Amino acid sequence: MKPLDIPPPLRTAPAGAAQAGPADAPWYAEQGDECALFAHAAAQRLPLLIKGPTGCGKTRLVEHMAHRLGRPLVTVSCHDDLGAADLVGRHLIVGGSTVWCDGPMTRAVREGAILYLDEVVEARKDTTVVLHPLADDRRVLPVERTGELIPAAPGFMLVVSYNPGYQNLLKSLKPSTRQRFVALTLDWPQPEVEARIVAAEGGVGPEAAARLVQLAQALRRLGGQDLEEVASTRLLVMAARLHAAGLPLPRACRAAVLQALSDDAQTVAALEQVAAAVL
Ligand code: ADP
Repeated sequence: MKPLDIPPPLRTAPAGAAQAGPADAPWYAEQGDECALFAHAAAQRLPLLIKGPTGCGKTRLVEHMAHRLGRPLVTVSCHDDLGAADLVGRHLIVGGSTVWCDGPMTRAVREGAILYLDEVVEARKDTTVVLHPLADDRRVLPVERTGELIPAAPGFMLVVSYNPGYQNLLKSLKPSTRQRFVALTLDWPQPEVEARIVAAEGGVGPEAAARLVQLAQALRRLGGQDLEEVASTRLLVMAARLHAAGLPLPRACRAAVLQALSDDAQTVAALEQVAAAVL
């Protein structure tokens, strides 16, 4: 891929603990060439679709790249009650008069921000009406209630994510939507990268981080059988933080990882056996 002139990460992986201050770019450990792909998509004004299991780093990638590219970031976590008006805006009654109030999408379009719609397939289908003209080369937002057609400011970028594992026939992106996006798939990081993430984000040493990653790998091999979800990087980071705070590793894993994967007592007991063999 042709290199692109983007500022380097502002913070590199610390050897041990995480020390991200508020002024720093959120640290992101790259799995492949996703940062360059993101930057190229931004430069070409192409919308980006990020697929991947929950807790694998999609949000962190977007936060990291927004900081590197110097763009404001507007994030919306989509849910099944979220419709076009929630994104675009609505009229509100203030002191007896009606005023228009921009929604997060409209603000992002006007400001030239990166708009990140997390779990976009959860949103109501009427959001398609506003997504399509923004995602293709028109780059405009039609505001039905006011009759406005707002052109996206030059820096505007639409980024959406979803977890293909959750897909069913009722909840999937329509081909006409999917084909408007450049797509990027993230998965669990390679073990050594994941161990670096767990050490840095969870504040534990390399040995504990490696054992947590080994546990995740053992649990991921079971995935798909009785479990809806497998152990994510996010869960490993949570376990690492509990351990760094003083909890023994097996206890931290039970609370942050095993209990999160199932509510069924028998399943949790089986997971504990797997954990006991690794930890
Ligand atoms: P997703 O959006 O895919 O559900 P997140 O981006 O919120 O997942 O990641 C969850 C947590 O896992 C983050 O807060 C961070 O601590 C950690 N994490 C996952 N992947 C990475 C990565 N590549 N670099 C740094 N931290 C990561």
